[in-house]
This record gives sequence, C-alpha cells and structure tokens, in this order.
Amino acid sequence: MIIGSHVSFKKDTQLVGSVKEALSYGSTTFMFYTGAPQNTNRQPIDNKLTNEGKELMIKNNIDINNVIVHAPYIINMASNNDFAVTFLKEELKRVEKLGMTKLVLHPGSSVKLSKDEGIKNIIDNLNKVGKSKVTILLETMAGKGTELGSSFEEIKQIINGVDYELGVCLDTCHINDAGYDISNFDDVLKQFDEIIGLKYLKCVHINDSKNLINTHKDRHENIGFGTLGFNNLIKIIYHDKLKDIPKILETPYVTIDDNSKERMYPPYKFEIEMILNKEFDYDLLNKIRAYYK
Ligand code: FE
Ligand code: FE
Ligand code: ZN
Repeated sequence: MIIGSHVSFKKDTQLVGSVKEALSYGSTTFMFYTGAPQNTNRQPIDNKLTNEGKELMIKNNIDINNVIVHAPYIINMASNNDFAVTFLKEELKRVEKLGMTKLVLHPGSSVKLSKDEGIKNIIDNLNKVGKSKVTILLETMAGKGTELGSSFEEIKQIINGVDYELGVCLDTCHINDAGYDISNFDDVLKQFDEIIGLKYLKCVHINDSKNLINTHKDRHENIGFGTLGFNNLIKIIYHDKLKDIPKILETPYVTIDDNSKERMYPPYKFEIEMILNKEFDYDLLNKIRAYYK
C-alpha cells in the first residue's frame, strides 16, 4: 500500500524534516509544498538536507518516484501574465534538485475570462514552461468559483493541447463536489479511462468531503466523517487498478480547545492506521485529541 499524507517542508529541516514527519505517521510515501502553499516565497534547496532526507527514505523503503510535490495553489496558469510561467519553471527546477519526479498543479481559474479562453491560456502557459524531467500532474478540481479542470473532459482538453506528456491527480473530495458519484467508483474510473485514459493517473488524493455531490465547494473532511463515507473510500484505496498509485491524505487537522486557545493536530497517523485496519472508528477524532493532549 503506497499511502501517506501532506507533510510540512520547513525552512531549517527541509526534506529530511518532511521524511521524518511522514515516517512518524507510518506512511510509505508523502506530499509536500516546497514552501507555504498560499504564497510563492521560496528559499533555495539545501543539498545537505536533501541528501539526509534521501538516505532516510532509502533506509525506510520510500520510493522517491512515489513522492509528490504540490505547486502553490495561488499561481494561476489560466491567467495572461507571465509570472505563473516563470514561477512554475523555477518550481520545476527545485523539484528536480530534490530528485522528485511528480508535481501536482491546480489547472487554474478563468476569473473574468471564458472557460475556453482560460483553458487556452493554461495550454499556452504550460507550453511556455516546456518539458522537464518532472511530470506535471493536473489535479481534478471541485469547480469552486471559476476553477477549471472540474471535468475529465476539461483535463483531457489541456492534456491534448500541451506538447509534452502530463499526468493527472484525482482528488476524491474534489470529484464528488464536481458531480461524480464516488459510491459508484468503478463507473467513475471507467469514465476516466474512456475520456482521459487510466495510464495518465499518477496520484490519488484521498479525502472525505464536508459537502454533498455536485455542490462545487472543496472542503475536505476526515476519512469516514464526511459525505463520501469510510466504505466508499476504502474501496477506492484498495482498488485493484490503483494498486501502484500513491495515495495522499489531505484531511483537516483536528482542533483541540485548550483554555480557549485553539490548537491543531495532524490526524494522519490515526487515519492511516484505520485505513490499514479497514474498520471505521467512530471515536477516532476523540482518540486523536486524547493522544495529543
Ligand atoms: Fe491540490
Ligand atoms: Fe487535493
Ligand atoms: Zn481541495
């Protein structure tokens, strides 16, 4: 089982810190942003910390090809400005320097443009960025606001327009919110295969959703505590056709009210345990709170 979660990538520990965090959750892979997800301030990659991280990965059988980097979500490839292109080029160099091979990217938002203009910009901008050793994985989006890439058809349109090979990252919360019925996942996968092609699928984000199907919200929920439910998610996680694909949890941190000061703790160690047990624990969130108290 190739499973892990989003982990932090801190200034002073960089990759080795991320690997340690992933291991503390019992993960066999992980995903990180090379800086804060909501901004584009990035510091140079430290070779020493990278090598320490890689050694730790080898020692613990984490395959570097299963590790995912996520591009900051504020860059908008559907816009007309060159900043997104310049930034993505730099980001790809950082990912290459770290030795990772997969970068997840939100396709972009059309904002005031039409859908078609937005998609054309994404294609043009990705062609300007150009081919690298790193595969860019377009994430399937919830369709919140003017987000593009909330249907398999739109993802396919982008893949077809770009002159080098892209991949896809399927997010379970997002596709539910976009209108795909997760409870009939075989059918969703069949549609994915017919429209995009299963060989493009390189990563799955495993999240429950706070919202009903087709609501276009994008609010993640802890595994089994949302509208998708534990059994549907287990079927996806253990699906035969997704066996070799990394699965990444991006579920929300659990909050603890501590003298009216709110603290947040990662649920991943517990969620991964529950997934490996294949049995839903109704009391999981309280157990997490008790563990960190
Ligand atoms: Fe994402
Ligand atoms: Fe995601
Ligand atoms: Zn999301």
